[in-house]
Amino acid sequence: MRYRRITALLAASVLILSGCSGFSGKRNQTYTDTLFDTVVNVRIYDAADDSVLKGCEELCKKYDAMFSRTAEDSEISRINNAGGAPVEVSEETITLIEKGIYYSEMSNGAFDITIGSISSLWDFKAESPSIPDAAAISDAVSHVNYKNIMIQDNPVRLLDPYAKLDVGAVAKGYIADRLRDYLEEEGIDHAMIDLGGNIIAMGSKLDGSDYNIGIQKPFDENGTPITSVKLSDKSIVTSGVYQRYFEQDGKIYHHILDPKTGYPADSGLISVTIVCEKGWLSDGLSTACFVLGYEDSLPLLETYQAEAVFVTEDKEVIVTDGLKDMFTLTDSSYEQVEE
Ligand code: AMP
Ligand code: MG
Repeated sequence: MRYRRITALLAASVLILSGCSGFSGKRNQTYTDTLFDTVVNVRIYDAADDSVLKGCEELCKKYDAMFSRTAEDSEISRINNAGGAPVEVSEETITLIEKGIYYSEMSNGAFDITIGSISSLWDFKAESPSIPDAAAISDAVSHVNYKNIMIQDNPVRLLDPYAKLDVGAVAKGYIADRLRDYLEEEGIDHAMIDLGGNIIAMGSKLDGSDYNIGIQKPFDENGTPITSVKLSDKSIVTSGVYQRYFEQDGKIYHHILDPKTGYPADSGLISVTIVCEKGWLSDGLSTACFVLGYEDSLPLLETYQAEAVFVTEDKEVIVTDGLKDMFTLTDSSYEQVEE
């Protein structure tokens, strides 16, 4: 068996090509950590007290403990391990689950927040990852249905005792929004919040110009970008095959799963990047649109006034109209096409 892995440290798929430079001391501080299974980077360009960075760290650690699928005592694990019994959790966990149900509904089940029964079978971080047993996959598929989540204010209950929540596709976007709220409260106007490629660009660069953000070249482990996108005050999030995958018998098996089959979604795409106002929306849409594929994503993008960059298996790049003026393809092995 041949297989290949990339580590979570290389998973960041959206790259900041150039932030501000030339500032020193308290004016250009960065908090970096490895949390949520990825690299967290919060850079504050404005002058700020050390306590502001410390506040970012505390928020990240709080959410990591709350939403983790693997930590036994996280609120998500407590719901998953309750065998269908009601579980009281924090209001924030309820909000996140409600957002997950919202994406599940808006995508007609292409996104499903109860994908946990399937995703827990696929271990992309194993030493020698392999395709799970077909019978186990088909059994897991029968336990995926977001309609089985019952929220009565609080507690939360899974009506199917074998159902499992997986907030991996939405938590980082939600947390990025909370970090932005916190930084705004602290009087910060210019910052870059990057949770493993889930980016919120707060304000513009200090000189008033746009940030220049790149989308990673698929499977390039050096993080080379294939594009640059100029933007200010926006969230930009990529869902991509290459962020977590293995290869077996010449075929790529990746982490964005089709709830109907239990296998990696096969929509002809390598990545989808979403640009819109809110982190939670970009994160949910990027995963949903990946599963739906290019054509079926368009109505969703229109409804939520989101812009997108699709990279296809044929090395074609499709950019929605609202992004074209800010977008440059920088890698000649990819071709920008009109659809
Ligand atoms: P993202 O990188 O935001 O696209 O999220 C991918 C993660 O979401 C995966 O690693 C899984 O934990 C989870 N996931 C995979 N497929 C789906 C799906 N169809 N619906 C909801 N969550 C998913
Ligand atoms: Mg997502």
